[in-house]
Amino acid sequence: MRILLCNDDGINAPGIIALAKELCGFGQVTVVAPDAERSAASNSLTLAHPLRAREVSFPAPVDKAFAISGTPADCAKIALSKLLPEKPDLVVSGINCGPNMCVDIFYSGTVAAAFEGAFRGILSVSVSLDTYSAKEDFSIAAQWALRCIKQLVAGGVEPARVYNVNVPCIAENEIKGIKVTRTGTIDYREEYDHRRDPYGRSYYWIKGNPIIVDENSDCDIVAVKAGYVSLTPLKPDLTDFVSFKSLSDQFSKC
Ligand code: MN
Repeated sequence: MRILLCNDDGINAPGIIALAKELCGFGQVTVVAPDAERSAASNSLTLAHPLRAREVSFPAPVDKAFAISGTPADCAKIALSKLLPEKPDLVVSGINCGPNMCVDIFYSGTVAAAFEGAFRGILSVSVSLDTYSAKEDFSIAAQWALRCIKQLVAGGVEPARVYNVNVPCIAENEIKGIKVTRTGTIDYREEYDHRRDPYGRSYYWIKGNPIIVDENSDCDIVAVKAGYVSLTPLKPDLTDFVSFKSLSDQFSKC
């Protein structure tokens, strides 16, 4: 099993190190990750600057590790096009420090790197831990991620997908199991903090806590808050096929 491992928190983040250690028991891992944190970069690409790939040492028995002067999507793309000698069997991204559920998956660099794999028809998995503290233990989440990955690989699932895994940050024995979910619906309130700098000029800082709108137990965020590891299948095709049908009928008369 050849595995490409990316993230958006940067190559030195504890989440990617924990996940690499776990994945090394399952396959041959190549790490290609940003040289610094690039969270919330979505699928953005570096176009106006050169992209530098530096081979670095890594604290896990991986095949190779590269630090990239770009975004998570840059990392996955350059790995799949240039750095890897052959197409991997699996693209994994994470473990992100912070959940990636509901509408947040659109902003996530972690999910975006996995999508670069799915765009190329490769089975891809993004993994996030439901905490904003990098001091948490990521090893339990890494074990659950590997459990999900092994099941996906063994199950012969649709490859050109991102399987988005979110792990609750609770004690190991409190995790209730894996639940297959759909993306939930949240609403953000007080999204910008209005502040003043030492010169009296105003500025803004994005913030906000999600308010769960859809309380259905099959939603990703509801499952994680209930103590389950959430696994949501995502596909690159965003077409709304209900509207596609009704609009096709409607516009055929124009
Ligand atoms: Mn991140």
